[in-house]
Order: sequence, then structure tokens, then C-alpha cells
Amino acid sequence: MKAVAVLPGKPNSIHLADLPEPKVDDIPEGRGVLVEVLRVGLDGTDKEINDAEYGDAPAGYDFLVTGHESFGRVLEVGPNVQGLQPGDYVVATVRRPGTSIYDRIGTYDTTTDETYYERGINLLHGYLTERYVDDPEYIVKVPAALKEVGVLLEPMSIVEKGIEQAYEIQRRLKVWRPQRAAVVGAGTLGLLATLILRLRGLEITTLARTEPPTLNSELVEALGAQYVSTRRMPLKEAAREFGPLDIIFEATGASIIAFESMEVLGKNGVLVLTGISGGDRMIEISGDHIMLGFVLGNKVAVGTVNANRTHFERGVQDMALAEAHYTGWLARLLTHPVQGLDNYQEMIRLLTEEKNAVKVFFEVNTHV
Ligand code: BGC
Ligand code: ZN
Repeated sequence: MKAVAVLPGKPNSIHLADLPEPKVDDIPEGRGVLVEVLRVGLDGTDKEINDAEYGDAPAGYDFLVTGHESFGRVLEVGPNVQGLQPGDYVVATVRRPGTSIYDRIGTYDTTTDETYYERGINLLHGYLTERYVDDPEYIVKVPAALKEVGVLLEPMSIVEKGIEQAYEIQRRLKVWRPQRAAVVGAGTLGLLATLILRLRGLEITTLARTEPPTLNSELVEALGAQYVSTRRMPLKEAAREFGPLDIIFEATGASIIAFESMEVLGKNGVLVLTGISGGDRMIEISGDHIMLGFVLGNKVAVGTVNANRTHFERGVQDMALAEAHYTGWLARLLTHPVQGLDNYQEMIRLLTEEKNAVKVFFEVNTHV
């Protein structure tokens, strides 16, 4: 069976690999769910894995099959699987439990283990292949009415977790009625954060470098949010103009933005950091101002990565709500399809060069 893989440690090693056919019996105790892959979304992580910045091969392999944003259809289930049947549309979660207490209670997204296992990212094969098998604990059902946009569920789950963490943390305040938020970054995660915060009823300013009009700025405005180019108005000024900011959702990966956000966050506010800053840049920050503001303003900053099945489930609910409020909006994110696994070079080209791409995704199997 065909799969798109890299050789960890070797830059630009993307190639077609051959994987043995997965079988329902590969999962113990009759709990196998065999899934046909229909679509796989791609993001910066996939590009960085191909650049050999991280990602290790599973035990017994010298290659790693990539792809962590899956969408597929159940082909077959083992005798002890409940709630899933052939024909169901599904998305699989990414991380698999390690050994810490958090892993053992189903919250593997908050593992404290040094080594983490993520399908398509680290030590486990991903979904850029024809079929996969897994335990139903890691497989989330998507209603057929959302099949055109189901491939966005994994990035959606990342944002759901970040926003849930913010609300959870703010229970420290006996009353918290957030009114205004800023989202920094207008890529897939920034756009989905804008969507979810709009669905929660907040007034949103989404900031990104590029000057409008772009598809991204139009997508922001279609949600009744405001798009601001930081070239025209830096974050500091925007916060003064459109704040006080109860929430800032960072989705850029630029560490300078994290500290600028700390500086402009409103009193009692919460800053959610999701960008994965892979470099080792040294930066200058207004340390005293930031610390003073944090202490006198009772502010919080939280980092968040990955998501467990509860966040995927919440993502399904919000996708349905999004279709009701902003019909057709989610599908507009799916800008660049790549047909068939053989076209992996085209995928790398799009990820590297296509500035107008919001979401590049594979159509692995076109009869959706
Ligand atoms: C994935 C997450 C993952 C993170 C770190 C992201 O691209 O969407 O599921 O936890 O990378 O590997
Ligand atoms: Zn990702």
C-alpha cells in the first residue's frame, strides 16, 4: 500500500514508501477500526518534518509516514467496537498516550513525558496513505453533512483546546464576561480561532502582516470580525484602539509576538500561545513593563499544544454551528487540493511557494 514518507534526519527526503496493509486484527481485543483515507490536510509541521527539523521514524522503520490532519471513512470494525460502523466518516486524533498520569486518564495532550508519540509527526506513522487502523478511543465520528469540511477538524481541535483552556483558567475570576479579543496570525489556526471566538459572541480583531484585501482578510471580515495589517497598525496601537483585550490568541510562532501580546493584554486577560517557535532567536523585550502589567493587571499566559478527543468532539459541534451561522465559510479555507499520493512534490511546492494558500490538502481518494 502506498504512503508518503520522509527519512528522518535527511532534509527534503519526501518519497513514496510501501506499507503493509493494515488489518482490523492489528488492534488487540477486537477493537480495530479500519479506515479508508479520503483527505489529508497539511501544515507547517509537515514542511518542517520534510526539512528534517524534527520527527523520528517508528521502531523497526527507517522512514516516517507523514500527515496528521486526516479525514476518512470506516471500512470495517472489530467485534468489540461500539458506536462506529462501516460507511461512517471519521477523523483520527494525533497523539497517543505515553506513561504519565495525564496520559493514563485520556488527556495525552498534556503529557509530561519527554518523548511523545504523534501519528505522522513523531515515532508513529501518519495518515498520508491509503488505509489505517486504530482503536475507537482515537477515532471521532463526523456527520455526513460535514464531509466537505471534515478535513479541517484536526486544526479546529487545536484551537478548541486553546480556547477551552482560556475559559477554564478564567474561572479563577468569579465573573468573567469576555467582550473583546485579538487573534494574531491569519493562517488556518488564526482563522479558526476567529471563527470560534465569534461563535462565542466576542468582538474580534484579527491581525496579520499582509495588507488587505486577501482571501484571509476577506474570510475574517465574512465572520463580522475586523482584519488589521500590522504594517498599517502595530499590535500595540490596535490594542489601544480596539481593546481592552480580554483574550489574545497567538497563532504565529514568532516569539516577539508572544511578548508584545503580554504587554498589550487587558486587565484580568488571558493570552493563549499556540505557535511553535522552532528557532533560537534572542530578542529584546520591555521586561519591566510586561512584568508590572502582569502583576498589577492579574494577567495569565498559557501555552497549549495538541488536543484530545474531547476537543475534536467540540470541534465537530462548532463546525455544525459554523455552517448554521456562516454557511460555506469553512469550505473556503480549502484552497489548494493535491490529487493523489503520487503528487507529493506538488504538495511540497505548494507548502513552500504558494503564498495564497490557506489550506493545502491531499485528495487521497476522490469518491468522497
Ligand atoms: C499538530 C499537533 C501536534 C504539534 C506538535 C501540530 O502541527 O497539529 O497535533 O501536537 O504539531 O507536534
Ligand atoms: Zn498540525
